[in-house]
Amino acid sequence: MINLYIDFDGVIMNTIEVGYKKMDELGLERNVENCISFYGNLDWKKFLKECQEINNSIECIQKIVDSNLFNVNILSHINSLDEAIEKIKYIRKYFKDITFIPVPKKISKTKMVHTNGSILIDDYAGNLREWANEGGIGVRFSEKRNGKGFYAIDHLDQIIEFAKENISYENA
Ligand SMILES: [Mg+2]
Repeated sequence: MINLYIDFDGVIMNTIEVGYKKMDELGLERNVENCISFYGNLDWKKFLKECQEINNSIECIQKIVDSNLFNVNILSHINSLDEAIEKIKYIRKYFKDITFIPVPKKISKTKMVHTNGSILIDDYAGNLREWANEGGIGVRFSEKRNGKGFYAIDHLDQIIEFAKENISYENA
C-alpha cells in the first residue's frame, strides 16, 4: 500500500472560502498576520458547523479506504489546539480508523511524515512543491482542475484512478 496524505482545508471542507468571507465581513485584509490571528482565535466547533464538505469528500474518502490501495492519513495545518481537536472530532464522526496528523502552521508538512514515494493531495501548490522536492508525489485538489504544474483532481476518489495508472504497486 502507498501512503496517502489528504489535506483538510480547501480539500475536505470549504474552511478557506468561509473563513475568507468572514474576514472580509470583519474588514480584515487577508495578509499572513491577520490570517494566523483570525484562524488562531476561531471557535472551531462553531465554525466547522458553518462549513461544508467539498464535492462529497467524506464519501470519496470512504471509497479511497475501501479500495485498499492506500494507507490513508489526514495531514492538516493548524493554528490552535482547538482547531486540531475539532477537526479530529469531525473526522472521527465518519471514520473510526484513520490517522489524523495535525501540523503546526509554522512547520512544513514534509517535516512531519515520510514523504518519499508518498502522495499528498493539497489545494496549495506551495505545499505540493515542498512535497515534490522531498521525493513525494503531489496531486493538486482544484475545483477548476487547475493543477499549477501538478496532476489535478476535483473529487478525492479520482486519486484511485491516478494511482492505478501511475504507481507500480509491486514496488509500493
Ligand atoms: Mg489546504
